Amino acid sequence: MRDGTRVIHAGLPTPAQGAAFLPGPTFAGAYHAAGDPVTAPFTYGRFHNPTWERYEQALSELEGGPAVVFASGMAAVTAIFGTVLRPGDIVVLPSDSYYTIRLLADGYFTEMGIRVKKVPTVGNGQLQQLAGAKLLWLESPSNPGLDVCDIAALVAAAHDAGVLVAVDNTTATVLGQRPLALGADFSLASDTKALTGHADLILGHVAVREQAWADRLRTWRTQTGAVPGPMEVWLAHRSLATLELRLERQCQNALAIAKFLQTRPEVQQVRYPGLPDDPAHAVAARQMQRFGSVLNFTLADRSSAERFLAASQLLYEATSFGGLYTTAERRARWGGDAIPDSFIRFNAGCENVEDVLADLAQALNSKR
Ligand code: PLP
Repeated sequence: MRDGTRVIHAGLPTPAQGAAFLPGPTFAGAYHAAGDPVTAPFTYGRFHNPTWERYEQALSELEGGPAVVFASGMAAVTAIFGTVLRPGDIVVLPSDSYYTIRLLADGYFTEMGIRVKKVPTVGNGQLQQLAGAKLLWLESPSNPGLDVCDIAALVAAAHDAGVLVAVDNTTATVLGQRPLALGADFSLASDTKALTGHADLILGHVAVREQAWADRLRTWRTQTGAVPGPMEVWLAHRSLATLELRLERQCQNALAIAKFLQTRPEVQQVRYPGLPDDPAHAVAARQMQRFGSVLNFTLADRSSAERFLAASQLLYEATSFGGLYTTAERRARWGGDAIPDSFIRFNAGCENVEDVLADLAQALNSKR
């Protein structure tokens, strides 16, 4: 089956007479569970929920391994760190990964005795740091720089050295790249982004190759309470059905916008892995099925970037990315990333691209 069909049917129950295709969310703190609790399919809302199970089933079908849903992308990241890493262990992170992941590793996990090594994504630099490590963490394309590493090559070297591999697949989504098929042990994402795509919820998940890791992650979720609300999970499952439709439009828009920006004298550097002349394109084209909705570019200086954002009539100036709204932000306003002050992280949404290009042209022309 093709991707568009798979996402529409993923995780849905066998059709039953008079039943909804996707049953509504189950709101339950406690379930009726008389007598011996093992006889009740559901007992308490922190342990399990049928709405989670249907969404996890959908993700498992798409990812190619058991999946566990979490309250946020960061809850999913913390669950992997917490279940895999023990005092004295080494984790090798991309130095250009999503910055809160680096804050978490450098803060709490370092205090708990974990050693953190950081290497840039570009050029597969992490290969040099595998000796003695417990976990290799990849983020490709990286956020916000959009560098790409060769996931299969890094996984092979890591496994030879006895190192587990996790891939943060947030930017690509499972229809853009299949980390488990490339050999990774963990594929995780912030489902807040393109996977659900409507900028209306916070959610995350981890998919794994081995059931034993799914069991440990589920125990972590139950004991730490990193549980998602049923409404968010139901909305996520409903939104997943349009993932292929949304991504088709977003990837087309992203490429057209990147090409347009390359023609503009105000724009200094454009990065999008789908651009044939992008430094990441060759590796991306080998391992990705779609290049995603995120691109970035730099303008002359901070005030040009601020003027551009203020002049746009169509863009939401917003952090986060992946949704069907075209958004952009001057990323350095947050700090934490090695990027110029005028760096714009841009998410191509689902609008008609002619309207977006017209708006970008007038915003770049704006002198005020
Ligand atoms: N990983 C990446 C690459 C992200 O961009 C983000 C959020 O921006 C996260 C993880 C964390 O996800 P969440 O905000 O859903 O906790």
